[in-house]
Amino acid sequence: MKKQATHRIPRPGCRFYVCSLSTTTIVYKGQLTSDQLWTYFGDLSNPEFETFMALVHTRFSTNTFPSWERAHPLRLMAHNGEINTLRGNVNLMKAREGVMESSLFGDDLSKLYPVVEPNLSDSGAVDCCLEFLVMAGGRSLPEAIMTMVPEAWQNDSLMNKEKRDFYRWAACAMEPWDGPALMTFTDGRYIGAILDRNGLRPSRYYVTKDRVLVMASEVGVYDTEPENILQKGRLKPGRMLLVDTLEKVVSRDEELKLQIARSRPHSEWIEEQFTLSDMYAAHEGELTPESPLSVSHVNGTVNGDDSGAMMRTFGGDRRLSIFGYTIETLNMLLLPMVTTQKEALGSMGNDAPLACLSDFQPLLYDYFKQLFAQVTNPPIDPFRERIVMSLACPIGPEANILEPSAKQCHRIFLKNPILSLQDLEVIKATNYRGWRTHVIDITYPVSEGSEGLIPALDRIASEACQAARDGYQLLVLSDRMAGPERLPVSTLMALGCTHHNLIEERQRMKVGLILETGEAREVHHMCVCLGYGADAICPYLVFETMSTLRSEGVINSSMSEADIFKNYCAAMERGLSKVMAKMGISTLQSYKGAQIFEAVGISEEVINKCFKGTASRIGGVTFETIGTELLERHMLSYGERECDMLVLRNPGFYHWRSGGEKHINDPVSIANLQDASRTNNKSQYDKFKESSQESTKACALRGQLELVKLEKPIDISEVEPAAEIVKRFATGAMSFGSISIESHTTLAIAMNRVGAKSNTGEGGENASRYINQDPENNKRSAIKQVASGRFGVTASYLANADDLQIKMAQGAKPGEGGELPGYKVSEDIAKTRHSVPGVGLISPPPHHDIYSIEDLAELIYDLKCANPRARISVKLVSEVGVGVVASGVAKGKAEHITISGHDGGTGASSWTGIKSAGLPWELGISETHQTLVLNNLRSRVVLQADGQIRCGMDVVIAALLGADEFGFSTAPLIVMGCTMMRKCHLNTCPVGIATQDPVLRKKFEGKPEHVVNYLFLLAEEVREHMASMGVRKFQELIGRTDLLRKRDSCSDKAKLLDFSQVLKNALHMRPGVNIVGGSIAQDFGLDNHLDQTILAEAQPVLDGSLETVTINTTIHNEVRAFGSTLSYHIALKYGEEGLPNNSIVINLQGSAGQSFCAFLARGVTVTLEGDSNDYVAKGLSGGEVVIYPQKNLPEDYKSEDNIIVGNVCLYGATEGSAFFRGVAAERFCVRNSGATAVVEGVGDHGCEYMTGGRVLILGPTGRNFAAGMSGGIAYILDKSGDFKNKCNPQMVELLPLEKEDDLEFVENLLRQFHDKTGSQVAANLLTDWPAQASQFTKVFPYEYQRALNQLAEAEAAAQPAPEKPRVEAKPEPSVRDIEDSVTDATMEKKRLEKILDKTRGFIKYKRETAMYRSAEKRVKDWDEIYNMDSVRRGLRVQAARCMECGVPFCQSSHGCPLGNIIPKWNDLIFNNNWKEALNQLLQTNNFPEFTGRVCPAPCEGACVLGINEMPVTIKNIECSIIDHAFEQGWIKPEPPLTRSGKKVAVVGSGPAGMAAAHQLNKAGHLVTVFERNDRIGGLLQYGIPTMKLSKEVVQRRVDLMREEGITFKTNVNVGKDISAKDLQEEFDAVLLCLGATWPRDLPIPNRQLEGIHFAMAFLETWQKKQMGNKIDHTSLTAKDKDVIVIGGGDTGCDCIGTSLRQGAKSITTFEILPQPPPSRGRDNPWPTYPRVFKVDYGHEEVKLKFGRDPREYNTLTKEFLDDGNGKVSGVRSVKVEWTKDESGRWKMQEVEGSEKVYKADLVLLAMGFLGPERYIINELELEQDPRSNICTPPGKYATTVDKVFAAGDCRRGQSLVVWAINEGRQAAREVDAYLMGTSTLPVSGGVVQITQKG
Ligand SMILES: Cc1cc2nc3c(=O)[nH]c(=O)nc-3n(C[C@H](O)[C@H](O)[C@H](O)COP(=O)(O)OP(=O)(O)OC[C@H]3O[C@@H](n4cnc5c(N)ncnc54)[C@H](O)[C@@H]3O)c2cc1C
Ligand code: SF4
Ligand code: SF4
Repeated sequence: MKKQATHRIPRPGCRFYVCSLSTTTIVYKGQLTSDQLWTYFGDLSNPEFETFMALVHTRFSTNTFPSWERAHPLRLMAHNGEINTLRGNVNLMKAREGVMESSLFGDDLSKLYPVVEPNLSDSGAVDCCLEFLVMAGGRSLPEAIMTMVPEAWQNDSLMNKEKRDFYRWAACAMEPWDGPALMTFTDGRYIGAILDRNGLRPSRYYVTKDRVLVMASEVGVYDTEPENILQKGRLKPGRMLLVDTLEKVVSRDEELKLQIARSRPHSEWIEEQFTLSDMYAAHEGELTPESPLSVSHVNGTVNGDDSGAMMRTFGGDRRLSIFGYTIETLNMLLLPMVTTQKEALGSMGNDAPLACLSDFQPLLYDYFKQLFAQVTNPPIDPFRERIVMSLACPIGPEANILEPSAKQCHRIFLKNPILSLQDLEVIKATNYRGWRTHVIDITYPVSEGSEGLIPALDRIASEACQAARDGYQLLVLSDRMAGPERLPVSTLMALGCTHHNLIEERQRMKVGLILETGEAREVHHMCVCLGYGADAICPYLVFETMSTLRSEGVINSSMSEADIFKNYCAAMERGLSKVMAKMGISTLQSYKGAQIFEAVGISEEVINKCFKGTASRIGGVTFETIGTELLERHMLSYGERECDMLVLRNPGFYHWRSGGEKHINDPVSIANLQDASRTNNKSQYDKFKESSQESTKACALRGQLELVKLEKPIDISEVEPAAEIVKRFATGAMSFGSISIESHTTLAIAMNRVGAKSNTGEGGENASRYINQDPENNKRSAIKQVASGRFGVTASYLANADDLQIKMAQGAKPGEGGELPGYKVSEDIAKTRHSVPGVGLISPPPHHDIYSIEDLAELIYDLKCANPRARISVKLVSEVGVGVVASGVAKGKAEHITISGHDGGTGASSWTGIKSAGLPWELGISETHQTLVLNNLRSRVVLQADGQIRCGMDVVIAALLGADEFGFSTAPLIVMGCTMMRKCHLNTCPVGIATQDPVLRKKFEGKPEHVVNYLFLLAEEVREHMASMGVRKFQELIGRTDLLRKRDSCSDKAKLLDFSQVLKNALHMRPGVNIVGGSIAQDFGLDNHLDQTILAEAQPVLDGSLETVTINTTIHNEVRAFGSTLSYHIALKYGEEGLPNNSIVINLQGSAGQSFCAFLARGVTVTLEGDSNDYVAKGLSGGEVVIYPQKNLPEDYKSEDNIIVGNVCLYGATEGSAFFRGVAAERFCVRNSGATAVVEGVGDHGCEYMTGGRVLILGPTGRNFAAGMSGGIAYILDKSGDFKNKCNPQMVELLPLEKEDDLEFVENLLRQFHDKTGSQVAANLLTDWPAQASQFTKVFPYEYQRALNQLAEAEAAAQPAPEKPRVEAKPEPSVRDIEDSVTDATMEKKRLEKILDKTRGFIKYKRETAMYRSAEKRVKDWDEIYNMDSVRRGLRVQAARCMECGVPFCQSSHGCPLGNIIPKWNDLIFNNNWKEALNQLLQTNNFPEFTGRVCPAPCEGACVLGINEMPVTIKNIECSIIDHAFEQGWIKPEPPLTRSGKKVAVVGSGPAGMAAAHQLNKAGHLVTVFERNDRIGGLLQYGIPTMKLSKEVVQRRVDLMREEGITFKTNVNVGKDISAKDLQEEFDAVLLCLGATWPRDLPIPNRQLEGIHFAMAFLETWQKKQMGNKIDHTSLTAKDKDVIVIGGGDTGCDCIGTSLRQGAKSITTFEILPQPPPSRGRDNPWPTYPRVFKVDYGHEEVKLKFGRDPREYNTLTKEFLDDGNGKVSGVRSVKVEWTKDESGRWKMQEVEGSEKVYKADLVLLAMGFLGPERYIINELELEQDPRSNICTPPGKYATTVDKVFAAGDCRRGQSLVVWAINEGRQAAREVDAYLMGTSTLPVSGGVVQITQKG
């Protein structure tokens, strides 16, 4: 009746909920405080009204909009916790309805559906399911509870077999409802409680003599005489407490569960379950190992032809591109997984575009962000607390849950969800036990285009439904058929659609869903697939690709297929566990289908069809967009014209890459920011602002918004001054440890100088930084963070903060902990963190003292007590629902909330965490502000936004969305010199920021004033924006969403986004509310705290007027954080030292409230007779705490069998001692770093993460003892001998207690314990000491042992060494060290392989500088000057110097114009993979053999190493790669496979023309190159001399191109010999690459004299002569002449080299400019091209021959002198001086009396070029720019005339070969798009992107 009423009655506007129709229980429900209960429900205070049981639930309401039906208790239960897996549980419950039958209800069963009523809370849903199992499912209440909340049985070897079998059976029937929970339940007969598997809620009980059992979250809620107490207990993880009121018994967990386990033959039943091995066995011999399905025969290569194989990265499998694989996918994700069993780490956060903004056809997975637990429930540490985690799952059809039987077990049990190729084959082929598998093809014909997507989805979903109805047990969704003809629907989409459709049709439980996917491969992909219902996944393409890579030598050939699979699975298991754990989910079975994701940028239509129930707040991509991007990927993979698509694409999603995905921190912005802040230069800052805003537009949501400006801005002087605005700024929580002390203190000094705040991060702060600081250089961080790591959180640390920030989550890796490896823990860090140098420090995820909002409120309160002056802040990370969480936090009395974006930085995290968790702060801030306003809580808290905030616009947008304050992390680091290397996790930061290496730290050059400059420049930008909007005060900006709107000029994809939710004005939702953050103080009620009384009594001791004081009083559980405020006052006055021991002695009686003696300072001793709740002595800071039970308990009360203190005692204690007579609950001494504690037994997870101190446990421990324990020692009294099984052995050694000093220490401690507490256990042990020691086990961490030994050795070494007897010295071996002895090449190779270190190569190896042959030798010939052999020998060492930067500046616009993928090929050369290096090189550069010789290598000028070292040798490596390739015969003509039929004329055959022709030919066009000279090559042929570029090298390339199908026509001067207009007519496009051939002249007296020539005439004539042309060059030779070259550039140098070799008598060059400085000037900062003094080959040669450098600087040529015969005889010159005028412009002045005459027979004018020659320009009537180059729009190549394009020096002006090649390549792309509509020729950086025409 109730069910039917519930289904029928509610309708919109009419809520309906039946509390209970039970005959035995009454449910009183209400939105009431506890006090109101009595007055509201009169019967409760009526004495007539009696009950023998009561279940009461009152709790902190995080939910800001409570409703009656959601209030507790529910019908059968009340619940303190969260069900994290709710969505999956509810979905599956619905799906189960399809397979449920009931003999009891018969056909009426469906009237009970839906089992889970809509619109209930998570607890409400549990209640429905529980009720259903009890009423319809034949389960007793306890059994139903056991089914839904099972213990962690999978990994518990100690568990009784029958119980385990029961759990295994139950798991086949239903997945756990997972999450932290204390569930209490009753049906009128039974009343009980159960705790979740990880024990994440407190639960304490008393059993009394008068037959009362009281269980509550705390002790002290029920007053009774001690004499009446029989037992004091607590619920353990996963355990149940049950009272059967009928039988009048209290059931013990073990007995109760065994009884249930034995109630049916579960052990027999589970025999029917089967595994994959059973299937294999059934098909043994039937399946061939080389089955057609295990190797791809489908579209593996483009064209079966293997001749071009070397051109294909990693085997040339085109499927890789259609599934969006990139080089990064392979290198950064898959290869590390397959080779190391782990995901690789990254650092510095995610600054790449959101998928909904990306132009690179992202996969659908990228739109999904993992949700994570924060505040309302805790994440888990999946590694240290592995015992609770499980990936094992039964899959396949479920049976009717209502009739318990063996049928439930007819499922396959998988250890993890990843299937190998063979597993899938078996599954597909099986008929084992009558099972059948149906394979559904999820591809569709390309011809259907993007419109085909929806019909394909419908077809897949209905095929799946039909198969389920037809009785198939397993469905495989397969994209195997994807290829040239078929498009693969995204596996994720097909899965989501099928899964939801099967649920709707109630068919889901009949089948298991398996994916055969080429698409999913990363951890995140698997998570999303599992989250949307996949049961198992075979990522076949991963395995096949890895096999190929093995055959290509990338993976060690000794690895078998099985190894690859095993390693990949291991890495995947780690990754999956981590992602589940961050949401607090411990079993995969519950994670499956739970949809724990938020989508960013997916439209409602897609969500509704495929991902129903997923939050997607801003709309976004539609089926059409997804379909179009799929088609584009297909075109890039299987396009008819291959162009440059044979090499796998690398758009640089992880590391910035030229031409690839934009990153917020791109090289231009980084360089501009550094320059602006160092020079405090506004115009430079404006450049930064512009570049930064551009990248933000491409990457972030805020980039899609713009400000609503006034037509006329207000006067900026009216706007609040910058000095006020900067006070709202803070630096992010970057701890000393993740960054160096130098950078940490620089930030602190800077922030203190401007009245802003720096943040310690979780690494603590040394007291020396906050005591007695110089005000100008104050190193104190105003914000002190308190994280789960609790490093060095002492009373004094807390007392000296302005803000205390609780870190709930970190933007880059929410829900995850971290780890500082031992090698990074220097002495300083160890001191700061109160630990031991060299011992690793693990930061757990925040669940050790924050299980719930109540616990967070407690921590807030504790911290407030520990520093009443400090503002308490809570750091959250943006995700859907963060607004509600923040409201809860505000209600929990936080005064400040930080909302971090997903893109925040980090020292180290797996890429999955960095890229896939958390959401943009724009969503988080707006949601939080709106929710706080709606709840009228906004005035109580200050709101901070944090995450990649870099410029004023970011600040203003954050403020308009609701933020008051702003956190900056990455930007200040960049200001201090960070170049976004993303090497923080390797300790190799080359600029000394994120490193602890003393050598690298010395390189730190950051200055506080730079940071100050930056903050002020930024604040000034904020003021400009404010003026533009007419806002005078910053406060007036906050929440003004009306001043923001979406930009009109967004990209097409961004146009789909809907910002209406984000831009809602909160004040419209609740008008008139105070929204001034922090204007209303939170009331902590500290005035009435017991500490105030104590303080008054202890004041004389604090004043120093008394030495000691003793205070006696009572305490009750409402007194929380007792002793913390007292400690604050001590710490404030006496610092870390505190008072002398026992200065203040306090004796108490009663049950103490939570956080008793938290942060107790030295000098205070507190003794409590009674018991206490959670968190006793947390953060103990030198004080002493003694707790023993009441003295008048019954005689048989044994303290060692009863609980005395709750969970998490001594968490993060740093010093002091604690003596507890009795048992402590879970998580005792977690992260203790220095305290000594004695206790008579502990629960699970004891001493977890401990780093120091001593713990003596005189009784049993729980499970998982010492997990993550890296330091300190524990001594365990192990009477039953089972401690070994309970200890986590990963990091500790178990030893006997037998060493003298240990025995003495323990004995001493026992005595103290006995004296202080009267412990009987201690007394018994002492009676027979040391014999009793044999029962003890010493737990001694390995790392700690090593560190202590090292310390001892260091101490011993510091002592003077005793005289040693003289020993006869052994003769030195003739070979001392293999490194010194090796001479021959093979040995050398071996040696290098052994020792070469790429990680620290840049520190270890010097740059090789000798690149040329010796000058003496080379001047004697005309051969190339390079010493190729020597260069190649040292190449790997040089490559090892390359750091593979996260932002490789060498590739940036300051570096290589082609965007050569330098870090990649450097790495490949280091790994001796020359072929692959060649592939990478040819992706960007058509002619590396030219650039490798003649390029002046701007890349090296921009190399990051060049900041403080010699840069990496890039050019030589480039040249060696291509030369080696030619030598090996790898370079062969590669004509295009198809021809487009279009004809293109290229005029001019210099590097621009050649590159363009090469690219256009690849694209299939017929290319004809016209050259007016007699040979092809432009200046490469006739310009650059043979010494720099051998003409054979040029000819070799020309020949290749000819063979590829390009037609070269020489001696055709277009515009003269043939008409340009004719070409325009005849060809489909004409590309002009004419060069800048018009030389600059020197119109001074006597210019007409004979012997004065343009340099080009001189060089060209000679080169033609060298080529064998019949030419008279006598008048133009330098032989025996005095040569003067005017102009000091490259051309000048070539004239020098040529003249010298021709036999000139003397050579001098004139340069009008001054000599460049030896190192970079202030106006020439890194990474700009270094304008420094260089000695080129010609200069060196002249100096050798004539004894002096030929260059004369500051020299102006005034006149040529006539020899009287019309020939030049000399040059008259004058010195000049350069000064700057008032406007900063350079001015030249002649120096009087400095005239000089130089003798000259030959004068060469090498002063550059003025542009292209005019005739062709005039004929075609092309527009010219002011510099007389051919005019095209910026970044484009089309001229003003149709069909005509221009590239190279004729468009750009006189430049370099590398630029000419780049121009040619890019112009070709534009021409191709013009001809074909689109082009897939690559952009700069070699990245293939689809270019549209126009
Ligand atoms: C002496 C010298 C040394 C240099 N050294 C270096 C160096 O070491 N490193 C470096 O990076 N750069 C160097 N440069 C610069 C570099 O050579 C040029 O920037 C580059 O060659 C420009 O390429 P381009 O294809 O645009 O033009 P060019 O190489 O100048 O080629 C243009 C071609 O177009 C042809 N042409 C012009 N008009 C017509 C027409 N109407 N019909 C048919 N053909 C026509 C010309 O004959 C010429 O062959 C040097 C330049 C000179 C002059
Ligand atoms: S082409 Fe020039 S800039 Fe580019 S990598 Fe080679 S040497 Fe460096
Ligand atoms: S060459 Fe220099 S800038 Fe480029 S990746 Fe290597 S170290 Fe970084």
